[in-house]
Amino acid sequence: MADAINLEEALYHRGVTRRQFLKFCGLMASVLALPPRYAGTIASSLQAAPRLPLVWLEFQDCAGNTESFLRASNPTVSQIVLDLLSVNYHETIMAPAGKQAEQSLEETVKNHPKGYLAVVEGAIPMGEDGVYCTIAGRAAKDIVREVCGNALATIAVGACAWDGGLPAAAPNPTSAVGVKDAVPGITLINMPGCPMNIVNLTGVIVHYLTFKDLPATDQMGRPLFAYGQLIHNYCPRRGHFDAGRFVEEWGDTGHRLGWCLYKMGCKGPQALSNCPSVGWNDATSWPIGSSHGCVGCMSPHFWDTRTPFYERLPNVEGFGIEATADQVGLGVVAGVTAAFAAHGIISAVRGAARPIAKHESPSDQQSGERRDSPSRGSNGP
Ligand code: SF4
Repeated sequence: MADAINLEEALYHRGVTRRQFLKFCGLMASVLALPPRYAGTIASSLQAAPRLPLVWLEFQDCAGNTESFLRASNPTVSQIVLDLLSVNYHETIMAPAGKQAEQSLEETVKNHPKGYLAVVEGAIPMGEDGVYCTIAGRAAKDIVREVCGNALATIAVGACAWDGGLPAAAPNPTSAVGVKDAVPGITLINMPGCPMNIVNLTGVIVHYLTFKDLPATDQMGRPLFAYGQLIHNYCPRRGHFDAGRFVEEWGDTGHRLGWCLYKMGCKGPQALSNCPSVGWNDATSWPIGSSHGCVGCMSPHFWDTRTPFYERLPNVEGFGIEATADQVGLGVVAGVTAAFAAHGIISAVRGAARPIAKHESPSDQQSGERRDSPSRGSNGP
């Protein structure tokens, strides 16, 4: 986009109509949990916003977040994002290579101190002085410290940039860590997921450009608008869970009818994400909508803590966990209610829930993650 023309004209030249732009602003207001009238505020703010330089670093990763970024389309979210930002460095998609590419990074850091956004994808290996991941002869740990330490804010996208993700899974041979541990003390937004959802990343950027501030986060640095609700509480299959209708085997009648996937290993009761409302692939579907259980990819160290993916959650704490799915399924409503109440008392007395056996069902409300109080742009614990 030429700097001389405004955003609306630039979008027009990219084939984005004003109607589509306003639709995008309405979507952003919705994603950010703002009243619909804020769509106009967002539109006027974005049109007046200066182009913000951005650098996108990739380290120990699979480029899944880049794929998520590039696959965003209708109504051309990626076009709008790219026109809002000046993407000065992104190894996977930038035209220059080698020294020219590295020069773009150097110049951005040097010419825009505390004036650019850094997006980090992938884990940072700290072992053996960082030798497991080097770019242009420099260790990832040194690059990320310099670039993120000089940015106005850093956004860690994907599970690997958040807490090390797959590279950090046991036994973590490269001593991989996430950005918060590699560069403590910076202004950081964490957007876990495998990959993160481009709609949510766009929401963070739009929030910053509209309000000149980062969105409120939990104590792990995750934006509350995207990671503030349990999947289980908004899942369209929740009615089946409450009624005791569970898929027992892949392809069985319950599976074909869209029943609850808890017994097939769904981690939705412990996963904080707006997946049910935002969806994936232009909101065409999402994992549970495609009849696969949630694997909890937005939960801390999910490769270690949420596996095996096809085993039911072993320790869902709270009210009512002792009511068996089989009991509910048989319609023993009175007995189940009594069991719920009795267990609630017993659990309160003993103060801890025991692991759930294979034949039992979970609680309906509790999360294994902490529901933290809001903060802004925190670095997390
Ligand atoms: S266990 Fe999974 S599929 Fe079942 S209601 Fe909860 S989130 Fe939805």
